[in-house]
Amino acid sequence: MNSNLLADTPRLPVAAPALRTKAELRAALADARGEGQAIGLVPTMGYLHEGHLSLIRAARAECDLVVMSLFVNPTQFGAGDDLDRYPRDEARDLRLAAEAGADLVFAPSVEEVYPEGPGGCVAQVEVTGSLTEILDADPEQRGPEHFRGVTTVVAKLFNLVGPDVAYFGQKDAQQAVVIRRMVGDLDFPVRIEVLPTVREPDGLAMSSRNAYLGPEDRERATTLSRALQAAERGARAGSLGMGLEAGRRELAAAGIEPEYLQARDAETLARVHALEDRPVLILVAAEVGAARLIDNVLVRPNKTS
Ligand code: AMP
Repeated sequence: MNSNLLADTPRLPVAAPALRTKAELRAALADARGEGQAIGLVPTMGYLHEGHLSLIRAARAECDLVVMSLFVNPTQFGAGDDLDRYPRDEARDLRLAAEAGADLVFAPSVEEVYPEGPGGCVAQVEVTGSLTEILDADPEQRGPEHFRGVTTVVAKLFNLVGPDVAYFGQKDAQQAVVIRRMVGDLDFPVRIEVLPTVREPDGLAMSSRNAYLGPEDRERATTLSRALQAAERGARAGSLGMGLEAGRRELAAAGIEPEYLQARDAETLARVHALEDRPVLILVAAEVGAARLIDNVLVRPNKTS
């Protein structure tokens, strides 16, 4: 046997090293920063799936050093939310992250991130107004505190990691809009990349929360993407109103009452009533069994897709 063959075979890393403290993270990044390496950051709450991995691979392709953060951030969960049962499997996450190309995983404890407790951050970052008082932050549902939790923890991660590029998923469309706005308005020196939603073969948007679905609800959950497709078709063929009606019918047929199914301007999230010259997001949120699921489709005018 040719031993050179073995020597030349690239070996996959077994697991990405997990850094627990801000000090460890700073130390690990110091050299890269000193050498002017491009740092990519992929913030996650773990329980990785192909959606997360697509972000890590994109970061790997563009950056010298890829950092994934793994932190189930308590401040973005509401009182009735699923913080306590949020799925976790760190050993698997570290392995998958390494295989997808992450160099480091920052996986701090809640105490490390919030030394005075999750409610102890007196200084917080908040995108105010209409972007954070609608949809996933509707005051009757989770409220603007949800996005305050998101923007505050993402700002902390940006300050800790100092990434050149940070990667987010279109799956959480409103989150991406809010973070772009935060970065623009506060001049964070980071480029935001938003990558397409990765789906299961039957159309269901991948989500860590899909783990909550039993077999029947897993089947019903495919209705969300079908409803969005019906809405897009209807909007292109007739009107946005007809499209949304078609989407609602699709959901109703599966016994799903959405928290919202709405059309919004893709940049400003202002309500839109007609497909004109700007990209429109059609967004849906619904409880399916034990999971609250969200999904969306980006409808670009005059594009048949
Ligand atoms: P999470 O762990 O759910 O907080 O997600 C971490 C990042 O992965 C966020 O930027 C999400 O938008 C993104 N993400 C989650 N699900 C998907 C998906 N199905 N496709 C693409 N990106 C995703």
